[in-house]
Amino acid sequence: MQNYKRKSLLLNYFKPSIYLESYKKVNLASLKNSGIKLLLCDMDNTLIGWNQRVPSNDVLNFIKNVHYHNMEFVLFSNNIRSRVENFAKKAGIDNYFWDCKKPLLGKMKLIKKLFDYKEEEMILIGDQLVTDVLVANRAHIKSILISPINRDVSSNKLVHYLENSLFKKLAQKNILHEGFYDEGDIGGNYEIL
Ligand SMILES: [Mg+2]
Repeated sequence: MQNYKRKSLLLNYFKPSIYLESYKKVNLASLKNSGIKLLLCDMDNTLIGWNQRVPSNDVLNFIKNVHYHNMEFVLFSNNIRSRVENFAKKAGIDNYFWDCKKPLLGKMKLIKKLFDYKEEEMILIGDQLVTDVLVANRAHIKSILISPINRDVSSNKLVHYLENSLFKKLAQKNILHEGFYDEGDIGGNYEIL
């Protein structure tokens, strides 16, 4: 029984605050109203497909919209410097971090120091449970999980396998069901663990 409980508890580390189809569905006004000031965003398969290099107009509009709502935008990627920098420059993103090694906390700690926002004023958007949602929960910040742009074409087979088995376990425990999205508002009763 104890073992069973512990397993469920660990699964909560993979529970996003909000689950949406795409970054395009993010309700920025709602985030703003809930006190979010800093938006950390994954790059690959969240804003751009792994095989693309140029940000779409939708991405450019999204970033403009974040600034319009007076929130700070930070690109937070595990990818290498050249790819992240190239994308950031084309998208007009001033704050970008590469090689973040999510779900490790190193770069997250740096962000917290550099930007000086409270944990409850930050949110992370990303497409992966094992990197994005996990690092957000470990750092005690909110998260938005979105579905990857290039589904089934993951460059990393291990991550793909882990994602699939996690989705199965989360569904079994009724924590999260793949493809059943929230409305986009941030829940009032957000809690982790
Ligand atoms: Mg990604």
